[in-house]
Amino acid sequence: MHTDQIEVVRGDITRLEVDAVVNAANSGLLGGGGVDGAIHRAGGPQILAECRQLRATTLPEGLPAGQAVATTAGRMPARWVVHTVGPVYSRSTDRSATLASCYRECLRVADELGADSIAFPTISAGVYGWPMDDATRIAVQTVLATESRVQRVVLVAFNEAAEQGYREALGRG
Ligand code: ADP
Repeated sequence: MHTDQIEVVRGDITRLEVDAVVNAANSGLLGGGGVDGAIHRAGGPQILAECRQLRATTLPEGLPAGQAVATTAGRMPARWVVHTVGPVYSRSTDRSATLASCYRECLRVADELGADSIAFPTISAGVYGWPMDDATRIAVQTVLATESRVQRVVLVAFNEAAEQGYREALGRG
């Protein structure tokens, strides 16, 4: 991905006009707080119905951290939700490879779907406790290092710290 293809947008990911919206889900895929709750509320019950179907078929144990899977986006402007599970931050173990894998796998799934644009929240930087500057740096570095047919990547900053982190990582500070 080229840096010109990356946009930083402050706001609510559920309102964006993109092909695919990434959900920082938990491995159960049956909903949660933070961005997960916002996505299920905005998209409506069809998303949960498809998640339950995935649990009943291909993902009986849930989605492992670092992987990604797509469902409908229901009533949101987007066409798809790409669910991924970030690692819980740990001070004693370096889980950054798993966090990077989330971004790569989401782009791979977006390629499979034929999505031209995708929006990411700052995966793991909420309840999972990842320090914001590090989470945004890993997001930017991984997206830049990943080959994809996706034309436009929106990094959604939910607060000032996220916006600052993305801008610094992109050299737009
Ligand atoms: P995790 O469990 O991966 O930490 P969270 O949902 O708690 O997931 O947080 C992930 C990131 O999403 C955080 O940076 C949080 O501020 C952000 N976030 C929460 N709600 C929204 C939203 N509606 N749009 C965009 N980002 C959001």
